Amino acid sequence: MKQTVRQFFAKFPDDDACLAHLFEVRYGHDHECPKCGKAKWHRLKNVKAFSCQSCGHHIHPMAGTIYEGSTTPLQLWFYAMFLFTKSRNGVSAKELERQLGVTYKTAWRMGHKIREHMARVDGDEPLGGSGKTVQIDETFVGGYKKGAKGGKDKAIVMGMVEQGGNVMTRVVKDRKRLTMYPVIKSNVRVGTEVHTDELPAYNRLAYDRDYTYKSVDHSAKEYVGRDGQSTNSVEGFFMHIKRAIKGTHIWVSKKYLDSYLGEAEFIYNRRNAPETILTDLLYGYPKG
Ligand SMILES: [Zn+2]
Repeated sequence: MKQTVRQFFAKFPDDDACLAHLFEVRYGHDHECPKCGKAKWHRLKNVKAFSCQSCGHHIHPMAGTIYEGSTTPLQLWFYAMFLFTKSRNGVSAKELERQLGVTYKTAWRMGHKIREHMARVDGDEPLGGSGKTVQIDETFVGGYKKGAKGGKDKAIVMGMVEQGGNVMTRVVKDRKRLTMYPVIKSNVRVGTEVHTDELPAYNRLAYDRDYTYKSVDHSAKEYVGRDGQSTNSVEGFFMHIKRAIKGTHIWVSKKYLDSYLGEAEFIYNRRNAPETILTDLLYGYPKG
């Protein structure tokens, strides 16, 4: 079950509770002091740090996380992440501004930091393997850019979806084989059955002994091929991204597209276990 607002505030009633959580997750109360080897810590007053009882060595739990250097209260950060877990199509800076009572600039920055965090927590494990199927497709995402040719600034996004498994995306510079093939080779495991449409860039997969390859002929209005091949899942994921970007963010510049894709991947990969979304975010910090 997803956490309710009430449960959230019961667990994180104030900034101190959030900082204690961060210390616990990243270090643990039995963490051995790197200076003296003892394991007794106490919270310092007025400083967001814990101190070794024996030698006075300090640990700053926010260092090396997305909160480092931020003056925004930790509880607001945690609550912002909570809001991300509540929304299907992402959270806009405007929405964060309204809900958190921070400036638009701060809200915007927080949103991006949280997306970065999501992408990192999500990781980048290769897809597929023996007995598994991966669908690959590419799409144009993007919008208007002043000064760009025709006002258009579209990016090409390659998507790879393991059936019943995870999704992975990459922004690529063109739809040529030399660009796309290496992306497949480094992210799809040997032994995978690969499905694509008939874009020429994919042709070579037919001769690649690492994979079993099947294509669907979209030009012939074929959506599920004779051997069950299809790219429906990856296209569904693309539709979700576009809906989220259009509906929530209006448009996304190429520069930040990666972080929106990271968020979409993180959420999609937990579609069958939405209750883990917040936990993964709140526990997925670099170990201290
Ligand atoms: Zn110590």
